[in-house]
Amino acid sequence: MEKYETVIGLEIHAELCTESKLFCHCAYIFGALANDCTCPVCLGMPGTLPVINKRALEFAIRAGLAIGCEITVDSKFDRKNYFYPDLPKNYQISQYDLPLCKNGQVTFEFEGERRTVALRRIHLEEDAGKSVHAEVTGDATRSFMDFNRAGVPLLEIVSEPELHSPEEAIAYCRAVKEILEYIGVSDCNMEEGSLRCEPNISLRPRGSQELGTRTEIKNKNSFQELIDAMEYEVKRQTRILDAGGEVVQETLLFDAATGRTVAMRGKEEADDYRYFPEPDLVHVQIDAEWIEEIQLTLPELPAARRKRFITDYGISPENAEFLTGTRQLAEFFDEAAQLSGEPTACANWIMGDLMRLLNTADSDIHESNVTPAHLNELIQLIDNATISGKIAKSVLDDVFETGKMPKQIVAEKGLAQITDTSEIETIVLQVVEEHPGPAQDYRDGTKKAIGFLVGQVMRATRGKANPQLVNQILTQVLSTE
Ligand code: ADP
Ligand code: MG
Ligand code: ZN
Repeated sequence: MEKYETVIGLEIHAELCTESKLFCHCAYIFGALANDCTCPVCLGMPGTLPVINKRALEFAIRAGLAIGCEITVDSKFDRKNYFYPDLPKNYQISQYDLPLCKNGQVTFEFEGERRTVALRRIHLEEDAGKSVHAEVTGDATRSFMDFNRAGVPLLEIVSEPELHSPEEAIAYCRAVKEILEYIGVSDCNMEEGSLRCEPNISLRPRGSQELGTRTEIKNKNSFQELIDAMEYEVKRQTRILDAGGEVVQETLLFDAATGRTVAMRGKEEADDYRYFPEPDLVHVQIDAEWIEEIQLTLPELPAARRKRFITDYGISPENAEFLTGTRQLAEFFDEAAQLSGEPTACANWIMGDLMRLLNTADSDIHESNVTPAHLNELIQLIDNATISGKIAKSVLDDVFETGKMPKQIVAEKGLAQITDTSEIETIVLQVVEEHPGPAQDYRDGTKKAIGFLVGQVMRATRGKANPQLVNQILTQVLSTE
């Protein structure tokens, strides 16, 4: 048993995918030319005034409801003052004492158990721009500012310090990410920085109820880096405590290249920010009816959907986990299962051949030519013995390429199974004549010799003969001679 208990609380920042920024009309397009997505408001020009984006409020409420928070009907924005080159106004409009959402909890599976972590709050704030450090030809490194991201609505989701290992923290993050994606408020693209996590970590003697001094690790936008950073930090703090030292409360940067954390700044207290109510914005009042309306548009959440797939469709928990991996995948499966009434077959096709095709083409299910209607038709063609499972695989390849319906492909390529007994019989007789050895082996009692002969008949018909019929007819022919 380890000496210390690890305690982690996470701050997750998610950019909302609204059409415009939080306080102006600019659209934020990732990868746009530097400073193309800006206007006097998000550049922080003196004399400009912010106006709240209603959609951003709606998305924040949506997230709050999905995570079981209380919505603050009387809320406001506050100024958080600090100087940073990428913060053009020298303050960030955020929420201090009246966050839009309070409490709530996130439930997820971890090491085969259900875990629930309480949330402290979710608030809305504006994102900052980005400093770009670049080497200029014939010159030293210079720093440039790109304000495209400045003013993008950001959701800050703050958990209670209730996570007890880096792995558990990741499982929690994945659950939050999944919910945000499902409800369509953020694309959660970590490479593009739409989802960033800041873990706060402390250790305490096992059994102690008091929290130890924590450090905070800045903005991690990949799960791998996040886990490396947390593991390093747990080890670093263990070393300090073992040597009888004290952890200093500070903000750290994790350097992925060296795999170590380095101090960035001493931890500031709320007082340092000189928070005060944003005087340029009105208070935010949320009607109960609006909350109700938003509640009604919430889709089924991933956990509920997984449960329904298991109970209603008889899908195994592992497969249900896979099939709810993204909302698009879950909806595809759900629709196909309902159309065909054969959830198991649908799950097998999706998780097997369709995934193989998608992986090879490096594309996603919602961009693919294959729809639930295609899959349904394919399954019907197998069920009514028009094609064999093997031919069906090649039909699916064609659907994936062309988007044609399976029936059309089968008709155009003449892939329908031969179910005409006399036609099969002719071929069987021919095969038996051409391969007297295996035929004799069968008659002499080596029953498995029939496999070779079935294979030859299938080959002669290019896989189109109905295998059951071939078996039946071969057995008859071999035993009557
Ligand atoms: P701030 O970082 O702005 O001071 P909070 O004090 O609200 O904000 O805490 C931020 C995060 O740090 C929360 O997720 C909280 O759970 C976590 N946290 C607070 N104290 C500790 C601690 N002693 N150990 C680990 N995490 C902590
Ligand atoms: Mg913090
Ligand atoms: Zn703007």
